Amino acid sequence: MSQLDPQLIASMTEWRRHLHRYPECGFEVEQTADFIADKLASFGIEVVRNIGNTGLVGILRGGDGEASIGLRADMDALHIHEQNSFEHRSCHDGKMHACGHDGHSAMLLGAAAQLAESRDFNGTVYFIFQPDEEHGKGAQAMIDDGLFERFQIDAVYGLHNLPGLPEGTFTVRPGSLMASESSFEIEINGIGGHAAMPHMGVDPIVVGSQVVLALQTLVSRNLSAIHETAVVSATEFVTNGTVNVIPSQVVIKGDCRCFTEATLAKLEQRMEAIVAGICAAAGAQYRFEFINTFYPTVNSATETEQAIHAAQQVLGADNVNGSCDPFTISEDFSSMLRVKPGCYGLLGNGVDSVGGCALHNPNYDFNDRILPLGAAYWIQLVRNQLA
Ligand SMILES: [Zn+2]
Ligand SMILES: [Zn+2]
Repeated sequence: MSQLDPQLIASMTEWRRHLHRYPECGFEVEQTADFIADKLASFGIEVVRNIGNTGLVGILRGGDGEASIGLRADMDALHIHEQNSFEHRSCHDGKMHACGHDGHSAMLLGAAAQLAESRDFNGTVYFIFQPDEEHGKGAQAMIDDGLFERFQIDAVYGLHNLPGLPEGTFTVRPGSLMASESSFEIEINGIGGHAAMPHMGVDPIVVGSQVVLALQTLVSRNLSAIHETAVVSATEFVTNGTVNVIPSQVVIKGDCRCFTEATLAKLEQRMEAIVAGICAAAGAQYRFEFINTFYPTVNSATETEQAIHAAQQVLGADNVNGSCDPFTISEDFSSMLRVKPGCYGLLGNGVDSVGGCALHNPNYDFNDRILPLGAAYWIQLVRNQLA
């Protein structure tokens, strides 16, 4: 279990509650980044600011080893009106740390403080604090700004709390841990007209209905029942018609989730083929847009073994599940895992009233009791990887 100094645990709790009180969203996390940069500097850690807009990296060297590791936390909050009444509730109306990124930042700061003091590792630790995880843009912005060119990072690791998973437990799996998230928009243009004389036009409602039904065959007839899991949901169907008018246009919107980039590419390609084929048969025109927001989160095998090993050392073997089921939620750490080997793991936030409330809920709060566990996991991972 954790052997962190009680004073450090008290400081982490204080930092976490400070961040919870002053949530910031998206890339606009200036005060949060200032707070984190000041803390890192006070531990004697070199800080590089403004990578990917408001992202920052702390650099800590121990010994003269060449090996390196990147540990990543997210800093952004959500546009939610907090309904908690405790003393550290949000002071920024309409913004709230409802996903626990305040806790993720505090845990990584705690690990940084401890490692800066002990320096009992051989190599370089990069503490990566990113903005805008919730919209899936922050990790890519840091990568585009040279995160992995400016810093020689061998592997990257991420950690998220999970309500409903008991406090003191850790869950992970090699390969696909979390799903992609994509949206699509299909605009079908026909020829509208009088509802009594449909033969005079091209009815986009009939065409659009065929498209919606045919989309159901993507999962059932284009993907392997064994190897390719996906969800395709049409969620909006909007026309410009009225009771006695056949519309000229239908817009269909929806959402896709899957677990590999190969499946993602196949979904996009087959979806457009369905739209093009049905519209061609009916004599309608179309516009098709497929927007990928989050890639699937895919853990590499070796780094996942390292994560499991470190978690077992800190939490006990019985409290670590190294082969959990995949999750249909998404995470933009996936963008970093497309560039570097690494592992994203989930730390139980608890099942009781303290940590059991769902993520993105107005009554959520990060469970401070897991701060030392997350920090100890980071420290153990560094000691193992940079031995
Ligand atoms: Zn979230
Ligand atoms: Zn989150």
